[in-house]
Amino acid sequence: MSFRIIVMAKQVPDTRNVGKDAMKADGTVNRAILPAIYNPEDLNALEFALKIKDHLPDAEIILLTMGPSRAAEIIREALYRGADKGILLTDRRFAGSDTLATSYALAMAIKKLQPFDLVIAGRQAIDGDTAQVGPQTAEKLGLPQITYAENLESVTLDEITIRRRLERGVETVKCPLPVLITVNSSAQECRPRKAKRVMQFKHARTVTELQEETRDYTELFDQRPYLTIEEWSVDDVEAMAEKLGLSGSPTKVKKIENVVFKAKETKIISDSDTDIDEMMRDLIDSHVLG
Ligand SMILES: Cc1cc2nc3c(=O)[nH]c(=O)nc-3n(C[C@H](O)[C@H](O)[C@H](O)COP(=O)(O)OP(=O)(O)OC[C@H]3O[C@@H](n4cnc5c(N)ncnc54)[C@H](O)[C@@H]3O)c2cc1C
Repeated sequence: MSFRIIVMAKQVPDTRNVGKDAMKADGTVNRAILPAIYNPEDLNALEFALKIKDHLPDAEIILLTMGPSRAAEIIREALYRGADKGILLTDRRFAGSDTLATSYALAMAIKKLQPFDLVIAGRQAIDGDTAQVGPQTAEKLGLPQITYAENLESVTLDEITIRRRLERGVETVKCPLPVLITVNSSAQECRPRKAKRVMQFKHARTVTELQEETRDYTELFDQRPYLTIEEWSVDDVEAMAEKLGLSGSPTKVKKIENVVFKAKETKIISDSDTDIDEMMRDLIDSHVLG
């Protein structure tokens, strides 16, 4: 049996620590000054894949990320938590890609990984915040998509049943495979790293990272080929360079504004009956309620 799950994950600047230098003059995020983390909903997506592997133990989980060399960090993190291998899509020509170009690059890489049964992404990345990449990738691959996935109800080799979390309730859907799923933050949290896997994969490196190492890993990597994290370029995925980077990105950032909430726009409400009554009256008067 072969059952292949591709998990799309992004290393993102930790936007919880945004300061005044967070944006560059050209409207792009100044990634150099913000700590880089595993996009939170992509950890929910990884857990979704691991749960499927609990049901289908022979399933193979491949972590796919597009980013600079240091994005290999999230591949190692995924390996520690249970992914089988990772691929870093990296090339200067990917830089500056908007969602259209990003989903094109990812779709081309996923095509190279055919045959696959499932593609699983997070719903949204905390930096770009568009939630477009998953659905756009599905479109480009001609796959059905299940968005806002919250829980895996059942899975077989041919079919998956998923509960979706919607604004006003839940919906259970069944879909034949292959399908692309985007996972919500309300889904189960990702299981922690396993100590044994940390020992197994702590030296996993891309070729670029190996070149920067002071220690010679040649013998170790010859003995343990699973430690090599593959790097794919634009040419490796047979993508058209003009559809990537700034030239392939129709999105243009026209203006960036800092929104600063002033104290007078906030109101502190205690849990006393008087305060709650007053808040309810305000909400009814302003037609938010009623
Ligand atoms: C003009 C311009 C220039 C930009 N330049 C850059 C740049 O140089 N570098 C940069 O990183 N961003 C850049 N961006 C931001 C870029 O558009 C988005 O970060 C990227 O396309 C993903 O969109 P998103 O963050 O809204 O992801 P969403 O659509 O919110 O992401 C949904 C899900 O898709 C998957 N996903 C998204 N991105 C990736 C990825 N890279 N690899 C694997 N899975 C992924 C994840 O599972 C994620 O949870 C630029 C944007 C613009 C408009």
